[in-house]
Amino acid sequence: MCWHRGGDYSMQFCVFNANARLSVSGFVQIHVPHPGVARLRQSQACSIGEALTSESLYNNGQAAPWQVSGPFADHTIGKENVGQKMKSTCFLNGLIAAVIGPSLIAACGHDQDSCYGPQNNVEYVRQVKRMQPGAPNATYGPKGPLEWGQINFMHTTDTHGWLEGHLKQPNYGADWGDFVTFTRRMKQTAGNMGVDLLLVDTGDLHDGTGLSDATPEDGVLSMPIFDEVAFDLLTIGNHELYVSEVAYQMFNTWARKWGDRYVTSNVQIRNPATGAFEYVGATHRYFTTDKGLRVMAFGVLFDFTGNSNASRVIKAADMVKEAWFADALHTTQPVDLFVLFGHNAVSPRDKGSTLKTVWDAIRAVHPTTPVSLFGGHSHIRDFAVYDETSVGIEAGRYCETIGWVAMTGFDARNSGYKGIANPRGVPNPARPAKTNATSPFRYARRYLDWNRNTFIYHSHQQPGTYDYHSGSRVTGLITAAREKLRLGDVYGCAPQSWCMECAPFDSPQNLFPGVIVPAVSKIVVQPARADKARIILGNTGSVRYDVPKGPFTYDDNFIVSPFRDVFRYLKDVPYDKAQKLIRQLNNGRADKRSTLVSMAVPQDACTNPTAGHLGRREQHGGPVRRQEVVTPGYVTKDDWGTDGDDTNHTAVPFMRNPGYYEARAGFPAEGSPEVVDVVFYDFIEKYILQYLGSGFNASLVDCYIDCNFTSQDFLLPYAKAVWQDNINDCPIDGI
Ligand SMILES: [Zn+2]
Ligand SMILES: [Zn+2]
Repeated sequence: MCWHRGGDYSMQFCVFNANARLSVSGFVQIHVPHPGVARLRQSQACSIGEALTSESLYNNGQAAPWQVSGPFADHTIGKENVGQKMKSTCFLNGLIAAVIGPSLIAACGHDQDSCYGPQNNVEYVRQVKRMQPGAPNATYGPKGPLEWGQINFMHTTDTHGWLEGHLKQPNYGADWGDFVTFTRRMKQTAGNMGVDLLLVDTGDLHDGTGLSDATPEDGVLSMPIFDEVAFDLLTIGNHELYVSEVAYQMFNTWARKWGDRYVTSNVQIRNPATGAFEYVGATHRYFTTDKGLRVMAFGVLFDFTGNSNASRVIKAADMVKEAWFADALHTTQPVDLFVLFGHNAVSPRDKGSTLKTVWDAIRAVHPTTPVSLFGGHSHIRDFAVYDETSVGIEAGRYCETIGWVAMTGFDARNSGYKGIANPRGVPNPARPAKTNATSPFRYARRYLDWNRNTFIYHSHQQPGTYDYHSGSRVTGLITAAREKLRLGDVYGCAPQSWCMECAPFDSPQNLFPGVIVPAVSKIVVQPARADKARIILGNTGSVRYDVPKGPFTYDDNFIVSPFRDVFRYLKDVPYDKAQKLIRQLNNGRADKRSTLVSMAVPQDACTNPTAGHLGRREQHGGPVRRQEVVTPGYVTKDDWGTDGDDTNHTAVPFMRNPGYYEARAGFPAEGSPEVVDVVFYDFIEKYILQYLGSGFNASLVDCYIDCNFTSQDFLLPYAKAVWQDNINDCPIDGI
């Protein structure tokens, strides 16, 4: 539900103790102890298995408590001018009730909706019309129209299951259904203009949210949703290779479906039928665009070594020596443009990236042919200039960013291009890759915030005209999957926001001292050894996302802690040795676990924008125009400077954390214990043993609580134990 408190428009998201009296006879009554607007939302789900509805949800800010009740039927919302129907789509979620009592969680966030201002233009419950019900929308928009060139690219990367969008962060509130609509509208726009538009994704589709990870096999529900976007080129990320069954899912299902659009130039998998290694997808793709450009594409994963033994990653330096690659470079067919894309940082200065190795090999044969690069894996917005006909983009992470690159300069002499030379009515790319370039090619690049305002603005639509059925249907699929997995179940109400990297490691705002350390101290306890002093050591890289102020859900557990690392321990370690471990670990290699080696630390100044500030909405309807309000978010600096962000933001600070954290519990009130239990994630065991030295070996190490208790098992109990205040009235941050 969404409501106002006496004109306080800053409140935007709340959990209600609905005082709901659920009745099988078909009524629900909800007392809302505050004046204002309320609504039920569709994702609220269904324990009683019957649709119910509400009436008189709307009281236009009258300062009187009000009550909701309704039979199982549609009712028009109380205000005539709303003109919207409360569909019978709101169900009560028994699981939430089981967890926190009969409560409803809801939020608001429509461009025209009541949470932002005067309520004369309110949309209540949506019939799965667009972004996830309850997700907040941005209050601002892009700074200006996109440049369109002869060939244009939309790039996504490292989506990590965030297809639901960011339910508590307006900057990135759109869901995959909204994006489906956006891609289709932009493809149409390209067609109308007479130019090309290609959609490119560079992998890492799992490990990040409940939608992708809460199923017994990752991706069973999320992958069909991801597949609703008709990408022209896709490639594989390291997160498709950790778990063999996921790798085989990509090989057996998606590689077959995507055909040669799935380009995995250096990744092979063991064919279970033959035992032989085969490429997961195609080694390369040669194709001709709608407008006649002849493209040769390679998709190259960085030199990843943490894969399961089901797959094999060929180092780029070896790949470029292979016969198929030489044949592709020396093809007798004309190539107007190389696309070099990969799960691989786009910057040639990134030490872990191998794109430069492949680019050099292309350049050795084709010294001037344009190369368009698309990167990923380092989770940053970035744009890199390789030479005057080679530029690359990297589109961040987690469905926060869409990368846009436009390019122009093809003609009948240098290509097969048959489209429009310069699309009219829009800006065209005007910038050479490098100053003083002599090539005819001009470029533009932009990083788009992943919200509906962005999509609506760039597709020249109105909020009411934007949606396509195809997108709305995908939004519905996401809602249904979330409900099936019970991802919205609320376990606690985080009383403030904690960020991973926006504050120093010792700041109360930092997620480690604020949440992780107290949570493992409290929850990671073996009952039989509860009275023993213990030191718990973990890798900061195992934590992947902030905890925004507000309801903490089952989904948030996957979001913050997507990995399942078992807690193991050594008993009765001399304290003087144990207390040195944190310093030894942090002075050693930053990350020992291959999984985490691959988690590049963003170099950008702002990688974790916290929940954006929502100002009071001043505009209703119409394309979003440039706003005065500047929200916290990405401020990107790349090879071209600082003008790439599509929406202007104020920067969020970025502080680098040490590689490891330490938690202590069960210590005596005074003095130091003689011995402690040393508890740690399984993957750092050999380093713990190495630092402890003689007298310690693997035979002394045991699972701590049990061999199934992992890094994914302490946050939910902690939220249930500690974050119960205001659980029925839980606001999100800054809104
Ligand atoms: Zn990633
Ligand atoms: Zn990655």
